[in-house]
Amino acid sequence: MNAPSNMIKVAVVGGEGIGPEVTAQSYRILDWFAAKRGIPMILREAQYGLIPYLATGKVLPADTAEAMEEADAILWGATGGPETKEVPAAARKEGGLLSLRSKYDLYANLRPIRANPALADSAPLKAHVLKGVDFVIIRELTSGIYFGEPRGIETLPDGQRRGFNTEQYTSNQIRRVARSAFELARTRRGKVCSVDKANVLETSVLWREEVIALHAAEFFDVELTHLYVDNAAMQIVREPSQFDVMVTGNIFGDILSDCAAMASGSLGMLPSASLGPVDRFGRRKALYEPVHGSAPDIAGKGIANPLGSILSVAMMLRMTLDRPDDADLLEKAVDTALAAGARTADIAEPGASKLSTQEMGDAVLNALEKVAGKEREHA
Ligand code: NAD
Repeated sequence: MNAPSNMIKVAVVGGEGIGPEVTAQSYRILDWFAAKRGIPMILREAQYGLIPYLATGKVLPADTAEAMEEADAILWGATGGPETKEVPAAARKEGGLLSLRSKYDLYANLRPIRANPALADSAPLKAHVLKGVDFVIIRELTSGIYFGEPRGIETLPDGQRRGFNTEQYTSNQIRRVARSAFELARTRRGKVCSVDKANVLETSVLWREEVIALHAAEFFDVELTHLYVDNAAMQIVREPSQFDVMVTGNIFGDILSDCAAMASGSLGMLPSASLGPVDRFGRRKALYEPVHGSAPDIAGKGIANPLGSILSVAMMLRMTLDRPDDADLLEKAVDTALAAGARTADIAEPGASKLSTQEMGDAVLNALEKVAGKEREHA
């Protein structure tokens, strides 16, 4: 049966490792917004990874592909880990996350980094370094060395093996992601830092030239600076509060955002949104997922931090569902839960009691009830 056309369709794909564990909590949050805030949405859960592979021969079975295809927004968990060794490389590649990003042309990956004052004592960085940290890394997601051809491993005449990959960017690929950064900066503090390795790589020379040209042509009101990626890694640890929007290529963004995660306390805290081009109806395909991977070292233990996934729901509320007030409400609920001392193991101060993944979901749901109740009182 087809859903009524005003219903927003959300595909929920937990995937592998801790993916299903953290996504189960986000599902409860989405359900709460549908039930309590009257958001007209249909949630469709679908499987991905080893389990459907064993049943169907595909990591991305037909019904999951269909759910993602028809979805206005996709909530993704994680993929990867030891289980993937049980899937032949060709089957893993077909329907793999990189192919999905490419299929939906999800070129702009937004990764907000915010230091929560409640986590100052458990964060690996000092409190004075974390003060005022609030920036977004935009990682180009569908080009660069992760996609460039040729790639492979070959055996040389002398018997050695040689691995090779190709870093490549076209001017359009650079300009569209730089445009996302400039437009976002206009809604924030008006600063873009573009990160490259233009002292060594031709792709980075082109990257810098294109960013500068676009800035001069259309975004001269935004402050633009440039950093080499090695310096950027150091600056993120030294003084992360200096950044507003950082834009960079695929591999640099991948690495820098894990580094920047330490400013938010844990990799488990970071949400993300991956956005495709705007179509003629003004819509864009969007996939929301925590920045972390399948975390095989803690998978199945019920201790993963679900806040990266839950905060990805806040991004979905703001960017696809057009519910900025509800996005604010959810972020406020997460802040409230943290301020009240809710901690999973990765963000717990020494000696603090630790919540399970499910209990952290409970804490956020309780905080949502509380914050929404207070809003009603003040209305
Ligand atoms: P990871 O992000 O899975 O884990 C890195 C470290 O952070 C681990 O110690 C882990 O326990 C911890 N961690 C991550 N998320 C956490 C959470 N929510 N709560 C508490 N601790 C958390 O990175 P990895 O170990 O390098 O990669 C594992 C697998 O995940 C690999 O196969 C990799 O390819 C894959 N991966 C997938 C995605 C994705 O699905 N988008 C992203 C990154 C890595």
